[in-house]
Amino acid sequence: MCTVGGGPSGDLDFDDRVKARKFRCNDCEEEFSHINPDKKPICPNCDSDNVKET
Ligand SMILES: [Zn+2]
Repeated sequence: MCTVGGGPSGDLDFDDRVKARKFRCNDCEEEFSHINPDKKPICPNCDSDNVKET
């Protein structure tokens, strides 16, 4: 079977994944990626929101 239906929606999902942005914490210098643009990036290491995009 060689079905190509569903290709476009799969591409959309992939696009969302690669939109992750990289941030670095100003408090502990942890580097992490943040995906959800509706949420404030928070350092996973020390829970600080004192971060900047790299
Ligand atoms: Zn931190």
